[in-house]
Amino acid sequence: MNVTSIPCLRDNYAYLVVCKETNQAGIVDPSEAGPVLRAVQRSGADLVAILNTHHHWDHIGGNKELLQRYPSLKVYGHGSDKGRIDGQTQFLEADESFALGKLEVRVLHNPGHTTGAVSYVIEDCVFTGDTMFAAGCGRLFEGTPQMMYDSLCKVIGGLPRQTKVYFGHEYTENNLRFAAKLEPDNTAVATKLGAARKQRSEGEFTTPSTLADEWSTNPFMRVDSATIQAAVKLADPSNDLSPVNVLGVVRGMKDRF
Ligand code: ZN
Ligand code: FE
Repeated sequence: MNVTSIPCLRDNYAYLVVCKETNQAGIVDPSEAGPVLRAVQRSGADLVAILNTHHHWDHIGGNKELLQRYPSLKVYGHGSDKGRIDGQTQFLEADESFALGKLEVRVLHNPGHTTGAVSYVIEDCVFTGDTMFAAGCGRLFEGTPQMMYDSLCKVIGGLPRQTKVYFGHEYTENNLRFAAKLEPDNTAVATKLGAARKQRSEGEFTTPSTLADEWSTNPFMRVDSATIQAAVKLADPSNDLSPVNVLGVVRGMKDRF
């Protein structure tokens, strides 16, 4: 498999995934058609599918134009997103699989940011949309802290630590600044923040991350950290410090960061 990261809009990423054996390709979250079409043409791949992680406009904005250009595309999204994803043809449920060329794509249902949010697992990669970012997670627009906790720490977090995490937005530097403020004694955060600053100053992408990196730097997955728990207790003295309630308070702090 080949994965190409395609910057779209202000800070979105679409990803072109090509099966090397068949040259068939899928595009994850085409925010807009222009940059995606150019990447498809450059690759010479045969685009057969759109893989939408959720219904937000900045992840499906290119669907219509891509369908005009390639009318037989299959358009994948969660079953509950029926009516919310332009051109959707495939209505997915948790843990089902489908083929992209000879690649097997496994569907994780990870509600929290939206109720229909999914991630796609292909070989040793996961495409997480706005559920898991490098050192962050999406806002809880339609879900609860419990849902986001399960999605991050159990569903996506259940994948092997070496899994590469391809996320939906270049928010890494800001996320790591928040993580460093919340957990100043975390050297993994400090090191990764330095690396991300350097990458961004040189115009490089910070995607992909790895699950190992997320376990060591993502404050929404580090709800067991004594330092994070102390910060939560300070902000919310009656918090019982259960993982879900820690995540809920950290999410609120990040919303105001
Ligand atoms: Zn979104
Ligand atoms: Fe988004």
